[in-house]
Amino acid sequence: MNRRYRKTIIAGNWKMNMTATEGKALIEAIKPSIGKVKWCDVVVCVPAVDIPMAVRSTKDVRITVGAENVHYEDHGAFTGEISARMLKDAGVKYVIIGHSERRQYFGETDTTVNKKVKAVLEAGLHPIVCVGESLEQREMGITKDLISMQVRAAISEVPADKIRRMVFAYEPIWAIGTGKTATAEQANEVCEHIRTIIRKEFGARTARAVTIQYGGSMNAKNAAELLAQPDVDGGLIGGASLKPDDFIAIVNAANQE
Ligand code: PEP
Repeated sequence: MNRRYRKTIIAGNWKMNMTATEGKALIEAIKPSIGKVKWCDVVVCVPAVDIPMAVRSTKDVRITVGAENVHYEDHGAFTGEISARMLKDAGVKYVIIGHSERRQYFGETDTTVNKKVKAVLEAGLHPIVCVGESLEQREMGITKDLISMQVRAAISEVPADKIRRMVFAYEPIWAIGTGKTATAEQANEVCEHIRTIIRKEFGARTARAVTIQYGGSMNAKNAAELLAQPDVDGGLIGGASLKPDDFIAIVNAANQE
């Protein structure tokens, strides 16, 4: 973390796990402990049908609401889809884009990620762009090449003045939902690599202002070590974001002056 230059952001990714009723109980459980944290931003990315509840429930605290997906068109005949304009109107501030589950199961590609990034930025929201390698790709020694490709594709044709509004999440696929966490060194190495790509494209000032999270089985026990790394500016948290005590502990680990 380097709070002098950029925000630390802890974002929960509830995935397809909470009804609005269950989600409300979860938010009420975390609010008293982390609703007013000072040194990091807290986001809950929730299923689309939970968004109105989440926005209402977090109105009086410093927790913001994110979506888990978006369509890149502004409006039109796209049955079942939701645009960035609609998310904004509903009170959403962040949108997860390119999560490996969407790349694997729903045909998300680097091209659609880039279109979604541009649509989300255009709407005035913050994209959380997920990039990461499979175990096979890591073992082949191509992690950095792959991350470079994913990041370059995501930022293609994004105006320089909008890059600072982007958040990146380094999420090694082999660590998501598996209980296997990247070591703090592995996490930092790739987060630093992402920052280097931004620096080459947009300069040092922009690169040091961009928040780069780590995600992949981050939990109450390993969060402090991961967040102590200079280029790890927060976490995207799946499983542990559903357990109030664990999520509170992760936020507290990030809430350091
Ligand atoms: C995720 O889905 O983004 C994630 C990091 O999940 P988990 O924390 O459960 O590994």
